Amino acid sequence: MRVGKCEVLGVGIGERGTCAHYNSERDIVAIRFRCCGEYYGCHACHALLARHPAERWPQFEFDRRAILCGACGEELTIHQYLSSPEACPLCHAPFNPGCRKHHQLYFEVQGGPRLGS
Ligand SMILES: [Zn+2]
Ligand SMILES: [Zn+2]
Ligand SMILES: [Zn+2]
Repeated sequence: MRVGKCEVLGVGIGERGTCAHYNSERDIVAIRFRCCGEYYGCHACHALLARHPAERWPQFEFDRRAILCGACGEELTIHQYLSSPEACPLCHAPFNPGCRKHHQLYFEVQGGPRLGS
């Protein structure tokens, strides 16, 4: 499914980057996986469709563009996304704050959210 600038893989991907697992109005973020360089709707989509284990982004690669905003169709760097996890820094569309709980599935973040930075 084409979302903005990129092709997003997954189950039931909508035109704003939702998928069968996360499909509220705010679940508009797609994530590029380091292992294959492909955008997927979520970690469950990758687990179902990719024939390899998911690889997480290490901190020294947080300047890579690996987040696709389904509202404006632009790519964000991981750093941009982690510093603005509740809304797109470009178009200000709200993101699902619950995604924060899953950041460790995608990024090598150290135990729990880092506050005050
Ligand atoms: Zn992969
Ligand atoms: Zn999914
Ligand atoms: Zn956006």
